[in-house]
Amino acid sequence: MNGPGPVGDSSDTMHLTRPLLLSNQFPEIRRGHLITLQMNLGYLCNMSCSHCHVDAGPRRREIMNLKTINQCMDFVVENGIGTVDLTGGAPEMNPHFRHLVHSLRGNDVHVIDRCNLTILEQEGYLDIAEFMARQGVEITASLPCYLEDNVDRQRGKGAFRSSIAGLERLNRLGYGQPGSELKLNLVYNPQGTDLPPPQQQLHTDYSSYLKDHFGIVFNELYSLANMPIRRFGSKLVSQGLFDAYIQLLKDNFQESNLGSVMCRDTLSVDWKGFLYDCDFNQMLEIPLGASDRQTMHISSLEGSLLQGRRISTGLHCYGCTAGQGSSCGGTLGEANPRQGSQKQRPELDGSQSAEKSGLGS
Ligand code: SF4
Ligand code: SF4
Repeated sequence: MNGPGPVGDSSDTMHLTRPLLLSNQFPEIRRGHLITLQMNLGYLCNMSCSHCHVDAGPRRREIMNLKTINQCMDFVVENGIGTVDLTGGAPEMNPHFRHLVHSLRGNDVHVIDRCNLTILEQEGYLDIAEFMARQGVEITASLPCYLEDNVDRQRGKGAFRSSIAGLERLNRLGYGQPGSELKLNLVYNPQGTDLPPPQQQLHTDYSSYLKDHFGIVFNELYSLANMPIRRFGSKLVSQGLFDAYIQLLKDNFQESNLGSVMCRDTLSVDWKGFLYDCDFNQMLEIPLGASDRQTMHISSLEGSLLQGRRISTGLHCYGCTAGQGSSCGGTLGEANPRQGSQKQRPELDGSQSAEKSGLGS
């Protein structure tokens, strides 16, 4: 691997934030109609970003195998799931990635690839962007800032230049171009303990900077809050800022966001095929709220039985409902006028700123 170098804590020294987040304080939320299956294809990644909520990296060996991929395919087809959202790690590094995408598109399922951009410039993956363009895959790419220093601090030295090269490659293929059906979205997340600024303003800033400096175009800009779990959560604990960050999220809670949190219409499946209400719960190993069992496998679930079932929540859920809200598709609501209270934010060092019968209630 000759990608950008790793940053952040090693997984050996990772603080476990799970016990700190388990709480029944968060308001009850229940599932609606299932629209999206988010598949985590494994924790292998060419990068080791400091904010990574998956603790992914080049040394991780957890990869979804072909049997589980085919079980997910069966679930998608049998339950008429319209969208599959592929994540990781770097999902493109799963050896069955092309087989999966090909099968999904053959069944007219919309596919979103959560791409770190640098993988597109790695040896062995130089033709993956072209493959995705041919298949009509939507790409949602992380670019935590449009400034080189900030991106390299969070993602490793050289990450920004490699990301720009990846974006240029995608633009050449038609991604993000006006009138093109190939959608290219970017994802922003804060450098430290701030809540994200208003999404529309960020979109304007990203658009003009990337166009003026590199001629790069894209469609949407999604603004995500940092979740207090795994690598970022560990950093908060190390620096004694965990409680203050949770308080910041709670102080900015917006009840109106509860109706549109992503777990209401999305189901998350891990690399072994076990189910969770969302990717964050997956990382925290909090089982599906609809299950009375400890774990439930995708091969034994009928999707329609989920509607109206309880969602497993914890203190991290305030990360989805603070301010303008946060989800894999960006903000949930209007910018929150109370975001001014962020001047009270904690300051990080080095930062700028089962079975079907197992269903319960
Ligand atoms: S944030 Fe994304 S690119 Fe960075 S280590 Fe995690 S999975 Fe990989
Ligand atoms: S973290 Fe967000 S998406 Fe996950 S269960 Fe909580 S509110 Fe839902």
